[in-house]
Amino acid sequence: MEEQSIRVELSQSKKEKPKAVELVFGRIFTDHMFVMDYTEGIGWHNASIVPYQPITLDPAAMIFHYGQSVFEGLKAFRTKSGSVQLFRPEKNMERMNRSNERLVIPPIDEAFLVKAIKKLVEIDQEWVPDAEGTSLYIRPFIISTEPFLGVAPAHQYKFIVIMSPVGSYYKEGINPVKIAVENKYVRAVKGGTGEAKTGGNYAASLKAQEIVEKEGYSQVLWLDGVERKYIEEVGSMNVFFKVNGEIITPALNGSILPGITRDSVIHLLKHWGLPVTERRISMEEMYDAYEKGELEEAFGSGTAAVISPIGELYWEGKHIVINECKTGELSKKVYDTITGIQYGKIEDPFNWTVKVCETSKVK
Ligand SMILES: *Cc1c(COP(=O)(O)O)cnc(C)c1O
Repeated sequence: MEEQSIRVELSQSKKEKPKAVELVFGRIFTDHMFVMDYTEGIGWHNASIVPYQPITLDPAAMIFHYGQSVFEGLKAFRTKSGSVQLFRPEKNMERMNRSNERLVIPPIDEAFLVKAIKKLVEIDQEWVPDAEGTSLYIRPFIISTEPFLGVAPAHQYKFIVIMSPVGSYYKEGINPVKIAVENKYVRAVKGGTGEAKTGGNYAASLKAQEIVEKEGYSQVLWLDGVERKYIEEVGSMNVFFKVNGEIITPALNGSILPGITRDSVIHLLKHWGLPVTERRISMEEMYDAYEKGELEEAFGSGTAAVISPIGELYWEGKHIVINECKTGELSKKVYDTITGIQYGKIEDPFNWTVKVCETSKVK
């Protein structure tokens, strides 16, 4: 198959860029976006980079009714020398195709889309902030656009990439969070869409999140949807526990989202020669480990925070305080290493970073 070319239409005016201190997550968008259409019989076509702008859809567009959509999330980082780089972008496109498969959305050309993302970031490179801990968040997504109210896979789609400069997740240094274990609501079940990155999973998670926030917890820990016993994820992050020197994370069982940060953490731990196990973990087992004084650390992993240490788990009336609610040594080491690689501060022995451009234009 011949590779498409990307039409580029540059914006006539440039928006004002926010100051580093004003950066919040996902509110401000760069000057350009990438768009591409799918029509059955033609395939993906019309790949273009155009000025950031609203899109017009028919009110009958299937995305509004049955939620056939997928998304991704990755970041571009500015290194000390001023160059811009991505972190494992090919993994995001690979995962997007797995989500596509589950949602019956036509597959994308992964290598072509990594190129398209690189080109978009290069065009908007001035939007990659340079203050400590800041980055450019990249959001590729696909929506079904065909105007039709029948329940069926659509014949028309749009693939879009938008980008937003984001501030440091940790304003005052990496900080442990309090988590409530969710016993009533579930995020996903085996056979459902839990392992696909699709909006519906998020819609399903809002209720539980709203309740625990009112009670002073920052996220929920999701249990399996059948027995409500086994640990799955924490908020929209994967989760790790250090018990008696061993690092354990729930095995990918069909309802857990296969995080790229999760994969990177496992890779690093193995590289360091630490024992890391992917298996089923029950909340009861973690509570027993805590009672015996063996639960040493716990943390979430995801693109937004990279590592989010868990200081307390609230479960069935019990407050499980981990590592005196302080960031553990291992959590800190994993965080420093992954962010070190992302920002080009330390060597990248696994070739995880992908250079976008060398220039040091910032302002
Ligand atoms: C995106 C996501 C993650 C984390 O994936 P990363 O690739 O590490 O960012 C974990 N859980 C859920 C539910 C997610 O949507």
